Amino acid sequence: MKEYNSDLLQTGIDIIEQINKRGFEAYFVGGCVRDYVLSLPIKDIDITTSATTDDLAHIFPKLIPIGIDHGTVLVRQHDYSFEITTYRGEQMDNTKDHSFNVSQTCSLEEDLKHRDFTMNAIAMDTDMKLIDFHEGLKDIQSGVIRSVGNPSERIQEDPLRIMRAIRFMSQFGFTIEAQTKRAMHYSAALLTSVAVERLLAECESIFAKTHCKKAVEQLTELELDCFLPIFSKEPNLLLEVSSDIQPLKSFAEVIAVMHMLAPHHTISAWCNAWKCSNKQKKKAKKIVHACNDVRDNGLLNQFLIYKLHDDLDSFYRVYSTLHKDQNIPIETLYGIQKELPMTSRDELAIKGNDIIRLFPTIKPGKWIEDILSTIEYKVVMRELPNTIISLKEWIICNPPETN
Ligand code: ATP
Ligand code: MG
Repeated sequence: MKEYNSDLLQTGIDIIEQINKRGFEAYFVGGCVRDYVLSLPIKDIDITTSATTDDLAHIFPKLIPIGIDHGTVLVRQHDYSFEITTYRGEQMDNTKDHSFNVSQTCSLEEDLKHRDFTMNAIAMDTDMKLIDFHEGLKDIQSGVIRSVGNPSERIQEDPLRIMRAIRFMSQFGFTIEAQTKRAMHYSAALLTSVAVERLLAECESIFAKTHCKKAVEQLTELELDCFLPIFSKEPNLLLEVSSDIQPLKSFAEVIAVMHMLAPHHTISAWCNAWKCSNKQKKKAKKIVHACNDVRDNGLLNQFLIYKLHDDLDSFYRVYSTLHKDQNIPIETLYGIQKELPMTSRDELAIKGNDIIRLFPTIKPGKWIEDILSTIEYKVVMRELPNTIISLKEWIICNPPETN
């Protein structure tokens, strides 16, 4: 067995052996086998088995029924999670509105036939022996993403596979086999029938992985963007950015880039169309705000770096995607961040209540926030030391305006 992740793999072997002991077949399958073959670290393990979820419940009394309808349960062992799924016959997808044909009569061969790409359709036993009906190993070795079976039919079953192909391209830098590619292009309109949450998960990965430039170029070449929310309204947007794009680690960064390039599509519109969380929306707004701030105050502005806080990396990725000619290294910005007199408003030596006490006759209101933000700025910019005495002194000399 290879050295890395041996604990995770060993725990997986133990689980498979426990299933085997009860007389059922069970194999490693999907991404973990692919990543094992590629000598990449294995993040999580999927197991496919002839046991039904009821059988599994007897073997693992504490299992978590994460997708009983789909024949999937989660087993936790040694702090690792294992997704165990009963052999599937019919279409393999993750939507709620498509039900899986979970049948005891299904075989491993049948299960593998319904997986998306040959590189994901290899099973592996506890001796690390590969069961590879679709020449997945050969495709992995030559870096090819190929549909299992007829690509058009497979895409009709679950059009998300179009985006998954692009996602794997971004992840591994592989190329997509010609017929698969053709089917992706001709069936692209089916993407409009896929739940946006599923599209978002794949799209987020496409932009985040190492080979995103290659993947985004492929995406635009196949005109898939014509069927993705908002991108469909701006045919040239992705094309424009594809030659400069570098990995963007969250969809908030993607939205920030796109909004800066086509400001008439608001961040809220992007977030609504893609059903992003409020957290993503807030982050995208913060990044865009910072980009505009750079225009006014320069990239090395301390307060800007202070405000960005944990989002400095995100901002930098967006900024350098938009301004590839600027070459200030991120280390310079980290340097400034490290030297800041404080990292958040909580660290101010004076609080809102202290300010209220300084002016007992004035009714609390917006003026408190105004003072706090002014002294926050002055402390960060080293115009004032962050001590109670100096802050009180400054506030007393600059009292709130009362009408
Ligand atoms: P990752 O490393 O990102 O987890 P993965 O290949 O394991 O990649 P998962 O989404 O975890 O991807 O799915 C596990 C396996 O299930 C896949 O390798 C593939 O065999 C199968 N699979 C998942 N989604 C689909 C789909 N939409 N159509 C067909 N097969 C799928
Ligand atoms: Mg997986």
